[in-house]
Amino acid sequence: MQLSYWEQQSYFEGIDLLIIGGGIVGLNAALAVKEIRPELKVLVIDRGAFLPYGASTRNAGFACFGSMSELIDDLQRNSFEEVFSLVQRRYEGLQRLRSLLKDVDIQYEENGGFEVFREEEEGLYNNCRSRIEEFNAELERRTGRRNIYSEASSKITDFGFGGVGKMILNSGEGQLDTGAMMKGLLHLVRAKNIEVLTGIEVRGWSTKAGLLEIETGNGFSITTAKMLITTNGFARQLLPDLEVEPGRAQVLITKPVDHLQFKGTFHYDKGYYYFRNVGNRVLFGGGRNLNFEAERTWDFDLTHPVQGRLEELLSQMILPGQAYEIDRRWSGIMGLGPTKSAIIREAEPHVFCAVRMGGMGVAIGSLVGREVAELICKVFKRKQLLSSKIHLFKRSDRREPAANATPACRIFSIVSFSWVSFPKIHLFKPVGAGRPNPPDATPACRILA
Ligand SMILES: Cc1cc2nc3c(=O)[nH]c(=O)nc-3n(C[C@H](O)[C@H](O)[C@H](O)COP(=O)(O)OP(=O)(O)OC[C@H]3O[C@@H](n4cnc5c(N)ncnc54)[C@H](O)[C@@H]3O)c2cc1C
Repeated sequence: MQLSYWEQQSYFEGIDLLIIGGGIVGLNAALAVKEIRPELKVLVIDRGAFLPYGASTRNAGFACFGSMSELIDDLQRNSFEEVFSLVQRRYEGLQRLRSLLKDVDIQYEENGGFEVFREEEEGLYNNCRSRIEEFNAELERRTGRRNIYSEASSKITDFGFGGVGKMILNSGEGQLDTGAMMKGLLHLVRAKNIEVLTGIEVRGWSTKAGLLEIETGNGFSITTAKMLITTNGFARQLLPDLEVEPGRAQVLITKPVDHLQFKGTFHYDKGYYYFRNVGNRVLFGGGRNLNFEAERTWDFDLTHPVQGRLEELLSQMILPGQAYEIDRRWSGIMGLGPTKSAIIREAEPHVFCAVRMGGMGVAIGSLVGREVAELICKVFKRKQLLSSKIHLFKRSDRREPAANATPACRIFSIVSFSWVSFPKIHLFKPVGAGRPNPPDATPACRILA
């Protein structure tokens, strides 16, 4: 595919930051960069045919930050501080998401999150039950919310579950409409004049004259000063050294169920299974632990063992004795690793990444987007990198100073030195004192500085 002059000019010229991946993280990063540095030109691209195609439009919409058995499990491999600072970050991420998008628009409801223990799981339940006070004290210190976890087994009969012996409530957990959240984020991003283009796949990149030239699978390349990779579960396709594995998550949703007896989000088996109401439908997902190896994949296929187990638990545990029909099934790809913390860093010069959201990117994604944006903007500031947008001189002999050129530059621009007229070379910073020359500044520039 060849780009027309107009397409090139309007969409791909003078990009300061190219974000690859238009999921929760990529969109939040784009928003935050524009908030910190409104003058930067940011473009988001995604290979999804018409929507971002990873996990952000395909998840279960749990606004959650940790069930008790999951945290206890995490404590076997991580310190108390590591586990609870991650819980705190998820909680803060959710508050940030809710400050960006109105609760009513994303249909955020705080119906609570319940951890269910089947009758044969008394031991696991007792272990969790014994730590409620300790976890509540820690979470109150970190979130200001009191008594987040509490015993809730008395509700089992009301909810109509089968074979469930005990439940623990997380009163801070909510649920949202994933589609509305992504539409809302896309709307905010576009309102900031940031283009989001789908159907563009990045294959690789090279560095030319201090800029990155991005090779796409569409037959054209894109030039940018910096790049941010937010491809999460697919991160290793572009940065093979990153410790990020894909993890497929499969879900199903029922048609509306008559007299559905429960509302809220539910976790079972250390978080490997999860279900919730969506109006009076049931969304149910999980089962990756049936065969970790098979689910470590970039394929979006559905498998019989996982779907079969979901159906079994749906009929025996969630909707026993009730009539229902399955409406739809789908999968999405998560980014997992040896620890649950995200990777946020400059992977190589000018190439940043913010990946590995685990199973809680709805919660943590907006915070991670903000953090990587701050990192990028700091580096932009420090290095005063070449922005292909801010030319003090045009390539042509007319040598007009740019709108943001310094007074010295404006005077200089009337003088006819053709050898100072290079593209993409700043003779001076647009503002501020000091004005160091870039390494490739011309001799005339060095004298004038
Ligand atoms: C079924 C399921 C249920 C989940 N449920 C929940 C939940 O209830 N609560 C929760 O907090 N989290 C949940 N998650 C996890 C959450 O959805 C993710 O952590 C989060 O969406 C990750 O966002 P992201 O922006 O990092 O990545 P993604 O949304 O995966 O975005 C990455 C994007 O990169 C694009 N891309 C990849 N490679 C390229 C390339 N080479 N060129 C261009 N584009 C590329 C992809 O098309 C994709 O759109 C769930 C995930 C799944 C799959």
